[in-house]
Amino acid sequence: MVEVEGYVGNFKARVRRAGGGETELGVGAIVVATGYEVFDARLKPELGYGVYPEVITTLDLERLSRDDSPTGGRIEINGREPKNVVFIKCVGSRDKSVGVEYCSRVCCMTAAKQALYIRDKIPDAKITVCYIDVRTFGKGHEEFYETVQGRGVLYRRGTVSEVGRQGDRLVVRAEDTLLGEMYEEEADLVVLAVGLWPAAGTSGLAKTLRISTGSDGFFLEAHPKLGPVETTTDGIVLAGCCVGPKDITDAVSEGHAAAVKASVPLFLGRVKKEPLVACIDEEVCAGCRLCENACEYAALVFDERRQVMTVNDALCRGCGACSAICPSGANQVKNTTKKQIFVMLAELV
Ligand SMILES: Cc1cc2nc3c(=O)[nH]c(=O)nc-3n(C[C@H](O)[C@H](O)[C@H](O)COP(=O)(O)OP(=O)(O)OC[C@H]3O[C@@H](n4cnc5c(N)ncnc54)[C@H](O)[C@@H]3O)c2cc1C
Ligand code: SF4
Ligand code: SF4
Ligand code: SF4
Repeated sequence: MVEVEGYVGNFKARVRRAGGGETELGVGAIVVATGYEVFDARLKPELGYGVYPEVITTLDLERLSRDDSPTGGRIEINGREPKNVVFIKCVGSRDKSVGVEYCSRVCCMTAAKQALYIRDKIPDAKITVCYIDVRTFGKGHEEFYETVQGRGVLYRRGTVSEVGRQGDRLVVRAEDTLLGEMYEEEADLVVLAVGLWPAAGTSGLAKTLRISTGSDGFFLEAHPKLGPVETTTDGIVLAGCCVGPKDITDAVSEGHAAAVKASVPLFLGRVKKEPLVACIDEEVCAGCRLCENACEYAALVFDERRQVMTVNDALCRGCGACSAICPSGANQVKNTTKKQIFVMLAELV
């Protein structure tokens, strides 16, 4: 997307075509579902990704296990089946050293699922999962985790400090935080359960669409409980991992919810608007244009001929940013004028 203007029911979007050039689309609503990117494991150099070919990520293992992979779905490293496999969880999640505090929610189950791929393909492999926590919150996930353990996959508490080489084998060094002691696990394959990060371009797209991102870098929903797929801009809705890490089940549910929310104004042919919008007293406005930059929704339009600011009611969200910055007091939000606020304060005190 290159540029978006207009409002719910009447957006004009200029988008780049895959083959080059641009197309202009007139649309009533926009669903943002741009997903995520996996953590770049090279940002944790102590884990050896990109240095040792025997260190791969869960995404690499997912691709390797497919029937159409170069090995035809066989799990082979350096042309051999690994007999000692160690999974390391929470790589690029819950880790302040890379600036991420959130849990990526899917990697515990991804590691469990992939441990079973290995058990099925290499029945005599020793498989160890080094974990900080095991989070199995979804429907049937706890039962699946128990099945995996029942198939001989060893879960070992451990914060991993390093992956190094000893002879022709890898050694994973970790601290068992339950016992308070260090341990080493030999491995001929190490799988990093990488976390989900915001997709590249998220902040640029947020600017184009005039919607917000949160401190974690993902798009910000209008309300975490009451408006989980809406944004603060009417007609632009969110779905899936672009809001934060989640599994396919939750991404699909959000996709359905977002489609319904987006289609309501299209079916109705009209939209409801809150009456709280900015209102400018043209007699008082000095035309300084200070308020224009304060508006994140491009709702203020300067009238060059009359040299006064005007408000596009359809775009205005009534946030009050322009009113707060107006030095002359010409700009006030309807029903919350300064006079009304002072009356309310007087009642309070
Ligand atoms: C290794 C691994 C294994 C996983 N295994 C499972 C599993 O077994 N079960 C499970 O439930 N979940 C699993 N997940 C999680 C699962 O991948 C996500 O839940 C799911 O992909 C989320 O879907 P989404 O549509 O939100 O995002 P995505 O799948 O990321 O889709 C987003 C799409 O938007 C496109 N896009 C991005 N930016 C733009 C743009 N500017 N313009 C146009 N298009 C754009 C992208 O190319 C992409 O096609 C796994 C994740 C990983 C990393
Ligand atoms: S889902 Fe599991 S592996 Fe992923 S960040 Fe959360 S606790 Fe760590
Ligand atoms: S109140 Fe002012 S700043 Fe806020 S959306 Fe309306 S015009 Fe823009
Ligand atoms: S800040 Fe106030 S005076 Fe200046 S242009 Fe905006 S409404 Fe007019």
